[in-house]
Amino acid sequence: MSPADLLMLAKGCGAVKEGHFLLRSGLHSGVYVEKFHLLERPEILSEFVKVLLTKLGGPFDRVVGPSLGGLIVAYELAGQLGIPASYAEKGPDEGFVIRRGRGVSQGERVLVVDDVMTTGGSVRKTIAAVQECGGEVVHVAVLVDRAAEPPSDFSYVSALRCVLPVYKPEECPLCAKDLPLLRLGG
Ligand SMILES: [Zn+2]
Repeated sequence: MSPADLLMLAKGCGAVKEGHFLLRSGLHSGVYVEKFHLLERPEILSEFVKVLLTKLGGPFDRVVGPSLGGLIVAYELAGQLGIPASYAEKGPDEGFVIRRGRGVSQGERVLVVDDVMTTGGSVRKTIAAVQECGGEVVHVAVLVDRAAEPPSDFSYVSALRCVLPVYKPEECPLCAKDLPLLRLGG
């Protein structure tokens, strides 16, 4: 499936919306990504994961993703690869821990995944949690890459790159057109 096909699927299920949005940062945007519309559709998520697999080498022993969305991606990717998945969750401090199931064993080759990556923060914490267990992070994969500037401390692949143009309210071309502004999460 091409990036255009994936984008069409994402728009079809409402995961990518076009309009005029007030982001939590106070900036305005013409596009909004609501990842849970994607995560609630296994058949669409599966298509995104198939595209990811064409971009990944391997071999991997295990897939690890962070709660909550990354966990669903890890489950699907591990299923298509036929290997186990583990899940990273918030720990007692700022970092993530892998505390359920067997976790990651010493020397395992690990694929770290996430749903939507913006700053790479949760990917970075998941990598640290894997390394804490003695696992070796071989690759990173995300469904949707929203990073305006790709992180420089790890390499990754994405199924769909979707960088949103954002505007300061006073410079917003959508405000200039008098399009109604939608507040998110309100
Ligand atoms: Zn605006």
